[in-house]
Amino acid sequence: MHTDGNAIAGLLEEIFGREMTGTERACQSCRARTLIGGHPLYRGAGLVLRCPSCGDVAACIVTTEDGYAVSLRGTWRLERLSPSASAPAPG
Ligand SMILES: [Zn+2]
Repeated sequence: MHTDGNAIAGLLEEIFGREMTGTERACQSCRARTLIGGHPLYRGAGLVLRCPSCGDVAACIVTTEDGYAVSLRGTWRLERLSPSASAPAPG
């Protein structure tokens, strides 16, 4: 059964503190730009997201005793979170 980045949306949000499936990633190998949610997901010793175009590794996530070991490849473009969401209200 085929799954993709959307299947680990909750995990990605836990790790990055934000919704990540709509994040665009540029592949380090083929330069294809794809949303994280559109990357095929492989489950083995850890979770591996691969480029849908060339199959190169986009991310590897391994659960450790106290958290996660995360390896990212390529360029992940994160939109700036709105200031009102992270900064304390003035006054
Ligand atoms: Zn690629």
